[in-house]
Amino acid sequence: MKKSIKSLLAVALLGLMGGAQAQDAYPSKVITMLIPFAAGGPTDTVGRLVAQSMSKDLGQQVIVENLGGAGGTLAAGKAAKSPADGYTIFLHHIGHSTAPSLYRKLSYKPVEDFEPIGLVTDVPMTIVARGDFPAKTVAEMIAYVKANKEKVTYANAGLGSASHLCGMLFQSALGADLTTVPYKGTGPAMNDLLGGQVDLMCDQTTNTTSQIKGGKIKAYAVTTTERVKSLPDLPTLAASGLKDFHVGVWHGLYAPKGTPKPVIDRLTKSLQLALKDPTVVARFAELGTEPVTQAQATPDALGKHLKAEIAKWQPIIAKAGQFAD
Ligand code: ASP
Repeated sequence: MKKSIKSLLAVALLGLMGGAQAQDAYPSKVITMLIPFAAGGPTDTVGRLVAQSMSKDLGQQVIVENLGGAGGTLAAGKAAKSPADGYTIFLHHIGHSTAPSLYRKLSYKPVEDFEPIGLVTDVPMTIVARGDFPAKTVAEMIAYVKANKEKVTYANAGLGSASHLCGMLFQSALGADLTTVPYKGTGPAMNDLLGGQVDLMCDQTTNTTSQIKGGKIKAYAVTTTERVKSLPDLPTLAASGLKDFHVGVWHGLYAPKGTPKPVIDRLTKSLQLALKDPTVVARFAELGTEPVTQAQATPDALGKHLKAEIAKWQPIIAKAGQFAD
């Protein structure tokens, strides 16, 4: 009896050591962080900052791969089918929760096909226009858009992106059906806004702050319920006549379903460290991009948030809706 307890203990100990060794060995090669939008945009900016910081902690490079298109759903499909070995991770935003309401068919399931690692940020959006757009204030902009529905163009990152969601709610609130110009991300869309090829966009402060501060584009309002610290002069859309208007963008980090728990735990720890990294914190603050709390940067918090957001947006999108097959 004594002997069998001893041998059981020995087996358990070996098991623990094996688990610990497997965990210690991870990561042993480069990790790819898939980003569902083009380089130079807000999701890319968040991803690169976090990836750089995680690389330091993990002792392996976390490289960014941009795969824009179809509002983020192309990359989500690719991430869902990637090997569940911890060497592919996927950063997405609120679009991961709106896609199932916008697309009748998706090649993946946003909840079932992923292991959540943790929430990453909360980011306000801003309504901006090309530098010579003929409206100074938010009231003038709204009046101009209503009076010139046929000719105003609106840039977004495709059906399912945050810029699409914000634009859809904005147009629905104004009763205006604008000509939409889709890009693979709001990085390239911003280039066209700067060049004056497109009129309006609603995008994260991560992408708009320096252009607003540099006077290169016009900014009218933020989409959050409160004003934003880094852009204190901008009113909220809700206070500018579009009652109840609120879209905040959140990012989450995922791995393909079946990625082993010790690997997810290691990635969560690394994400949490990145969100406390002074370089990341300082750059996020300049860009009006809030890192989430340590308690939110967890699989449990992201899993719950994703489900709650899917449920929240479904009826709103059904009402305002634009759909794709
Ligand atoms: N986050 C942007 C959007 O949803 C796209 C991007 O990151 O480029 O519109």
